[in-house]
Amino acid sequence: MRAAVLHAVGDAALDLRDDVATVTPAPGEVRVRIKATGVCHSDLSAMTGVLPVGLPSVIGHEGAGEVIEAGSQVTSVRPGDHVVVSWTPACGNCSACLRGQPHLCLTYVIEGFKKPRFTLGDGTPAFGMAGCGTWAEELVIPWQGAIKIDPDVPFEYAALLGCGGVGLAVIQGAKIAGATKILAVDPLAAKHAQARRFGATHAATLEGVEQAKADLTGGKGFDYAFEVVGKSAAIRTAWQLARRGGDVIVVGAGAADDTVQFSAFELLFEGKTLHSSLYGGSDMRRDISMFVELWRAGRLDIEGLISRRIKFDELNEAVTSLASGEVIRQIVTFG
Ligand SMILES: [Zn+2]
Ligand SMILES: [Zn+2]
Repeated sequence: MRAAVLHAVGDAALDLRDDVATVTPAPGEVRVRIKATGVCHSDLSAMTGVLPVGLPSVIGHEGAGEVIEAGSQVTSVRPGDHVVVSWTPACGNCSACLRGQPHLCLTYVIEGFKKPRFTLGDGTPAFGMAGCGTWAEELVIPWQGAIKIDPDVPFEYAALLGCGGVGLAVIQGAKIAGATKILAVDPLAAKHAQARRFGATHAATLEGVEQAKADLTGGKGFDYAFEVVGKSAAIRTAWQLARRGGDVIVVGAGAADDTVQFSAFELLFEGKTLHSSLYGGSDMRRDISMFVELWRAGRLDIEGLISRRIKFDELNEAVTSLASGEVIRQIVTFG
């Protein structure tokens, strides 16, 4: 089958092969035929080494498809079921899962680095990025990572529910939650119209944020400030925009060596709270159906996130245009 393989961190292009196979599913695993998969900035981050991957690695982590084989212990899905692929399957048994924080489960994250689930034509074992590897026609994942979804949800939309465009998702989430003022901050003024289309009431460049804060909040700052870039400078900007006692939420996936500084004074006296939003803090098996209901109700715009539909052969060009920042989501569909 076809799959997009990264051989070494820093490679400019992926090896688009047609001789890749999956392993046979273990008793607790399923084989999924991928129907649609998104091209996310985290895929580029895996290629450049910002996010760790086992090597060689099939890239891609947001996808949806159809279960075609289920191991003997799997009861949650069966062949024919449509599923969203989760890149943090929750084991259900570890201390994080038992505490009600399945997004912090490390069981399968660690396994994804130890257990290759693909083989290349010459027999070389290959890992799947983030335990997935959705830029392949099929993959094998733990059943906890295959989240059943109603068959009327288009695969392209289902794929994006597995990850999908955090900046515009935050804007949509703020709107759904009832925020009255939503300020989108993007250095590219050309992107402001797009942010407004998804629910931002105002938009600013970096140079304009202080003025926007003054205009919209009387200089006090915003109740919630979300960082969706994964850069220390953006985290500082979010901190600066939050009001005293406000919440600063880090959504962007940053690098291990990108250090953000806070003074001891501000951490106490500004009364702000810094949160991590790993996988949105969600319970994917519980929340995917809520996202689907929001989409059905016309309150969650998924179609608008898709800038371009492409074919597998165009993946390297898709990664290049990702780096240039000109697209929201590109979706690869497999026939
Ligand atoms: Zn767990
Ligand atoms: Zn992603």
